[in-house]
Amino acid sequence: MKREIWLWVHHRRGTIEDETFGLAAEACRLAGEVQGQTSVSAVCIDPDENMEAELKRLGSYGVEKVFVVTSGSSSQSRGELYASILTNMIRESPPVFFLMAHDDQTAEIGSRVAAGLQAGLVTRAVDLRLDEDLKAEAVRPVDNGYVFERVEYNCGLPYIATILPSVLSPLPAGWNEDAEIIPLSVHLGAQEPKTEVLRVIEADPESLDIEEADIIVSAGRGMGKEDEFGSIYELAEYLGGSVAGTRPVIDRGLLPFDRQIGQTGKTVSPRLCVNCGISGANEYTAGIEKSNKIVAINKDPGARIFRFADLGLVGDVHQILPLLFSRINEKKGNGSGDE
Ligand SMILES: Cc1cc2nc3c(=O)[nH]c(=O)nc-3n(C[C@H](O)[C@H](O)[C@H](O)COP(=O)(O)OP(=O)(O)OC[C@H]3O[C@@H](n4cnc5c(N)ncnc54)[C@H](O)[C@@H]3O)c2cc1C
Repeated sequence: MKREIWLWVHHRRGTIEDETFGLAAEACRLAGEVQGQTSVSAVCIDPDENMEAELKRLGSYGVEKVFVVTSGSSSQSRGELYASILTNMIRESPPVFFLMAHDDQTAEIGSRVAAGLQAGLVTRAVDLRLDEDLKAEAVRPVDNGYVFERVEYNCGLPYIATILPSVLSPLPAGWNEDAEIIPLSVHLGAQEPKTEVLRVIEADPESLDIEEADIIVSAGRGMGKEDEFGSIYELAEYLGGSVAGTRPVIDRGLLPFDRQIGQTGKTVSPRLCVNCGISGANEYTAGIEKSNKIVAINKDPGARIFRFADLGLVGDVHQILPLLFSRINEKKGNGSGDE
């Protein structure tokens, strides 16, 4: 019997998110390492209505089947609920790998599933290997990305991994078939949920996780010292955005680690990302490429960040930001709404 490699369908507002296509590419690559022994399937829990056509599209990225589960619960925390569903599904027919793009939710789900099944989990993986005997290894960054470690899965199937989104790159659609949609009903038995959602609190942009933010103002070493960061917070507040930064800014303790963008930080996908005093090293830009509009302010016209910018402003950030504020205020004074 052919074994399977499973991937998690990341979806939002009825659309499959890009990470999923990256996971499909990774799953197909792993399947290729053990030619003919595995096929690729996906698991989608709680899709929005009318997502079937969107899910079938995964077929052109090498996914043969999509298992679709509707959880039907609104009060239990999703981490616990989804982990129970997956644990049951995996118990029935364990895949070789179960792959998810790394974020707070998948880290929780992965840990719960691994604990429930006594399976091996590697979080924040940047590379995975599978050999002909279905033995697996993973590589992941440690020490804030200064070194990488190679770890071996020393356990039975499945191997569970959350992969850093910055290393996932989707391949162009190469298959000419729709994925088969398989609705599943999962019986969770009479277990008492251990967690319950009491209320949902809308996040304040200042404390909002930068992966969720719609607008980001990001600070680099070029912003200077702590007392020169005021305009970053002012701009973020004005735009209703979240503040983030590059690794040097985080290393200097000017922002907490969960605000770091990049290869060893977070991958963001806001509508607008304003980059202030940032050179645009590839370890940083790997984290902003999914932004809809990128603005860069840098005094060096040759800075690499400008290659990614939809709008580039060359000059001293400490002169440009006050100019920007006065232009915004002028427009406000004129009652113009198109700021
Ligand atoms: C394994 C590894 C992982 C890494 N992971 C990450 C990561 O996740 N995220 C990350 O950010 N980095 C990461 N890095 C570090 C990365 O290589 C760069 O060193 C870092 O992104 C540079 O940050 P920066 O742009 O703030 O600083 P710099 O490269 O020093 O750039 C500062 C920029 O500010 C400009 N500037 C200076 N003064 C002004 C001014 N007054 N007005 C306007 N512009 C000004 C300069 O022209 C310059 O372009 C990683 C490195 C390694 C080796």
